[in-house]
Amino acid sequence: MPIVRLADLIDQPVVAEFLRGVVASGRYATAYLFEGPHGVGKGTAALAFARAILCEHGSGASGPSQATPDLFAAAAPAKKQRAAPADDACGVCAACAKTATFQHPDLKFLFPVSGEEKELENTVAETLESLREDPLFVFNYEKAASIRLWLTRDLIRELAYQPFEAPRRAIVVRDADRMREDQYSALLKSIEEPGPATVWVLTTSRVNRLPATIRSRCQRVRFAPLVEQTVSGFLEQRARVKPDDARLIAALSSGSLSRALTLRLTNPRETRDKALALLEPAVRGASSDLWKAAQSFMSYGRTGRETLRRMIEFHELWLRDLLRARYGAPAEMLANRDREAEIRRQAQTLDAREIRRRLSVLEEALRAMEGNVTADLTIFSAMARVAGGRFGEGEWPPHPAARWDY
Ligand SMILES: [Zn+2]
Repeated sequence: MPIVRLADLIDQPVVAEFLRGVVASGRYATAYLFEGPHGVGKGTAALAFARAILCEHGSGASGPSQATPDLFAAAAPAKKQRAAPADDACGVCAACAKTATFQHPDLKFLFPVSGEEKELENTVAETLESLREDPLFVFNYEKAASIRLWLTRDLIRELAYQPFEAPRRAIVVRDADRMREDQYSALLKSIEEPGPATVWVLTTSRVNRLPATIRSRCQRVRFAPLVEQTVSGFLEQRARVKPDDARLIAALSSGSLSRALTLRLTNPRETRDKALALLEPAVRGASSDLWKAAQSFMSYGRTGRETLRRMIEFHELWLRDLLRARYGAPAEMLANRDREAEIRRQAQTLDAREIRRRLSVLEEALRAMEGNVTADLTIFSAMARVAGGRFGEGEWPPHPAARWDY
């Protein structure tokens, strides 16, 4: 597994510079809170920071004397020399080898899990294995996933002892907002009364779910959403996604690389084409065809709702492209560049006001889906309204969970 260092963080120059400054100074706060949108590299940065903290060549390390390398400097070929960065993990020392594979005894890494209690040890081990094996691994949790009590209990017990190998230990708690109240009290106590040198790094994309007492004890580090070009560039270069797909996925990802990496596995252009095709029966006024089409996506089971949500987003993306085309945007600014000719043609027939009306219908539909409104009915109604009509009462599909009041 290639080690990710602070120098490798993508598109977070402010954060990277700050963290490297901290490592260079060797003066650590007891706890850091990495906050910001989902999927912008907080977890990766937290691990990279931990690696830098534990690196044998770090500024705070009690480690190697500088005399030895200097002695041989003249004899050794220059390119074999690797200057030990004082502000980042070196990537080559024994500690870096261990932190890269999560085998360093002073690196603790907690993250939410879900499932049967008796299987959890396996779940944790499997997740770490995937993370080691797959540099593009994405943490995707079930709604109910949480950081388990026994994990924090074991950890806090260990804090009473000195670190094993490094001068300090680094504890990374991913998505720290997924804990129970009593865990926070224990965590707070550990942060307030730091034992032998410990640096906590908590990450969250839902900062308001963390108790204020925890937030106020942490040095806060804010992450920004990634820009679209960064996401599409990463997809093309590191995940080998085709340029047209990469652009489409990046436009859908709202600056979240994890979201983009998950989307790349879903054949986005095919889903988009199916989504856009939904408008056709709506335009024809063929309510039963529209209903059948909307329902077919619900057959994907638990992901059906998510798929329908995404389909509305594809429609939004398309309309935004129409707006861009109306204002004369060049091809490279279009998310759906592979269907450029069609976009240019449609942009001739719809004025900006109509495009905005459609967008607001779709926005409303997305909000309805956030609530408990049935997803297939929402898309049915949204398509009808985008097409400019409303179906009469008799044309609405019978539905067990029907709600007509939106
Ligand atoms: Zn190192």
